[in-house]
Amino acid sequence: MIINWWARNKGIRKDLDISVYIPEPGPLGVAGKEASMRVRNALDQRGIELVTGAGVTEVSANGREASFADGSMTTADIIATIPVHKMPDIVAASGVSNSKPWVPVNKATLETSTSNVFAIGDVNVVPSGDFAIPKAGVFAAGQGTKVGEVIASRVNESGEPEPYDGVGYCFMAYSGGRSATVGGEFLAEGGPQTILSEPTVSGMKSKDRFERDWRNFRI
Ligand SMILES: Cc1cc2nc3c(=O)[nH]c(=O)nc-3n(C[C@H](O)[C@H](O)[C@H](O)COP(=O)(O)OP(=O)(O)OC[C@H]3O[C@@H](n4cnc5c(N)ncnc54)[C@H](O)[C@@H]3O)c2cc1C
Repeated sequence: MIINWWARNKGIRKDLDISVYIPEPGPLGVAGKEASMRVRNALDQRGIELVTGAGVTEVSANGREASFADGSMTTADIIATIPVHKMPDIVAASGVSNSKPWVPVNKATLETSTSNVFAIGDVNVVPSGDFAIPKAGVFAAGQGTKVGEVIASRVNESGEPEPYDGVGYCFMAYSGGRSATVGGEFLAEGGPQTILSEPTVSGMKSKDRFERDWRNFRI
């Protein structure tokens, strides 16, 4: 949607076809059916094609052809893909994952099956409703804080901290000027409580502020 906005501002949108290919049956499934439909509509309104159930299996060396699991393929001048997402070999070899694709953890403390060994962020799996806590930076950061508290409580022999709450929000830009947030409480009692807000100018300001804070972060 940012590319759409950029191309419109440059007056070249009519010269571009923009398509989004995803392996899932719909976009943003983790935020619920209604949010997923709103994202579909937002793409549709901008003339962005959405192709679902399209898991990429290969991108050609020149980066202009993508093949999909169903044997189909597409060509484009620019293909932007996310690399295969998997656990680092060193983690798999450590045995801490119990031969699963991601490291199972205690969802309250993020501790693995090995005592005092924790797994945070993309490498772990924390079940949440029909899905798992999304693999996003905000959750990696929140889990890091929680593990810090757990370790400190053990070192200090104080009581265990509150269990990890699975709270986190990501920004979703609809243009270069408006952003929504998507997220919520993924470990809420009774199932995940998630929401996709409306895209606003103040949402984009929050997104900019968030980015600035991360860039300025120092230990
Ligand atoms: C295109 C894209 C867009 C994204 N957008 C967002 C977003 O808008 N908001 C959001 O919240 N999240 C976003 N994410 C997700 C976010 O980047 C990840 O969830 C987050 O970086 C996970 O943090 P992590 O520390 O768990 O893992 P990583 O950031 O992957 O850190 C793991 C580190 O371990 C290192 N490593 C691996 N193997 C070894 C080894 N053997 N020895 C030493 N080091 C090793 C890696 O080099 C890496 O630096 C996005 C991801 C992608 C790919």
